[in-house]
Amino acid sequence: MRLVGTRDENESVEFSQALLSPSANFGGLYAPKILPKFNLEFFKKALNLSYSDIALEVIKSFEFDVELEIFKDALKSYEKFDDPKCPVNIKKIDENLYINELFHGPTRAFKDMALQPFGVIIDALAKQKNEKYLIMCATSGDTGPATLKAFENSKNVKVVCLYPADGTSEVQRLQMTNVKGKNLKSIGIKGNFDDAQRSLKTLLLDQEFKDSLKENELKLSAANSVNFGRILFQIIYHFYTYIYLLKSGKLKDDESFDIAVPSGNFGNALGAYYAKKMGAKIGDILIVSNENNVLTELFNSGVYDIKDKTLVKTISPAMDILISSNVERLLFSEFGDKKTKLLMENLAKDKFYEIPKIDGFRAKFCTDKECANSIKDMALKGMLIDPHTATTFKFTPAKKPTVLTSTAHWVKFTPSMLEAIKGIKTTNEKEQMMMLASEFNQSVPAEILKLFESEEIHKDIVEISDIKKTILNWIKQ
Ligand SMILES: *Cc1c(COP(=O)(O)O)cnc(C)c1O
Repeated sequence: MRLVGTRDENESVEFSQALLSPSANFGGLYAPKILPKFNLEFFKKALNLSYSDIALEVIKSFEFDVELEIFKDALKSYEKFDDPKCPVNIKKIDENLYINELFHGPTRAFKDMALQPFGVIIDALAKQKNEKYLIMCATSGDTGPATLKAFENSKNVKVVCLYPADGTSEVQRLQMTNVKGKNLKSIGIKGNFDDAQRSLKTLLLDQEFKDSLKENELKLSAANSVNFGRILFQIIYHFYTYIYLLKSGKLKDDESFDIAVPSGNFGNALGAYYAKKMGAKIGDILIVSNENNVLTELFNSGVYDIKDKTLVKTISPAMDILISSNVERLLFSEFGDKKTKLLMENLAKDKFYEIPKIDGFRAKFCTDKECANSIKDMALKGMLIDPHTATTFKFTPAKKPTVLTSTAHWVKFTPSMLEAIKGIKTTNEKEQMMMLASEFNQSVPAEILKLFESEEIHKDIVEISDIKKTILNWIKQ
């Protein structure tokens, strides 16, 4: 199967091409035009399959141009997760209520679910083509560590990650400054996340920069969340969740379940939407936002309106977003390429567009206060829930089987946890994290503790005007 452009479906590319240069020339994204379908017979058979086997079946059904052996290697990256046999952990937490923990990978964010296998594929494709790539990312927190980690052992890909020097959580910062591997570089910038993102965009258009990369035989690529290579792996865990519920008898053959997703760029939720189209019996997809509630408005009133909105900083920073990029793929599926092109042009020009209501979604938003209350309520029941996942409790109690998608381990956000549960400020993050863990009979993942002990490798904190020079110096050495 080829992927087609969301703003012009005559622009089609092979999967491998969409991975290496993820944005279409004409400004759109690449998406499948028709999704493969699975019937009940498949799901019955799948009850005996492992996570990796199910993943392979889903991958095969797309008939992409990348060899199966490469996908098999990619799936082996899940062996590094807490349970080498299954990267996710689904638990029942209440009547009709389940939580799907997607944070058991090396950086403790759900971004690992897609970026770990994605890293293996990109490296293999680069090797096949006998090319070397530079992947650049700007991050406000979770994408940076997960991208760096995904290419830790890559021989054909270098990664540069720009982050706001004072804008990430301490754990996230250490995950970037301590990262090992000569092919990896993280650079703190004197500015906020918007500055980091803007600097990245400027660099990608800078001819002198591109020429210098060429001299060093490097091609540019991006691992951002609109890359379809990441979306593929985000379909699989929702698919697996359906099979798990069937297998454990929690769902009957003719029953469906709802999935709640804490949403930012809409990659995770889009994965659920595709899984549903492919045959998993998903009822409603419950979209949760924080106070940056553009998606709540979109699904409830059909209006995407950012005319008078400014970004609000919240305690669920990975969802602090006004332009939710992957929504474009949903629009394409629902309304086709011509309408999508018009809507996206409206958004660029008027910061506004309007669509008919899309079935199968419900949406709510969660204020920081409500989020902190949920964290506290759950702590009273003995569970530590990170601030992103905590927003999904807006959809509880559940009348029908509902799976809350859990996107981060709480240790990444200790200060917000302590504030919510105990009303105290963090003075020593490592110690207080360990205390909170032991109070709840948990242990802090070893690789998180190690962050506080190892020496920081990437100490650069640079002015925005020095970013280019810093990267080029690093590439040349
Ligand atoms: C990235 C992220 C999200 C948002 O996911 P999208 O796929 O962008 O909607 C939610 N929670 C956490 C912890 C994240 O890192």
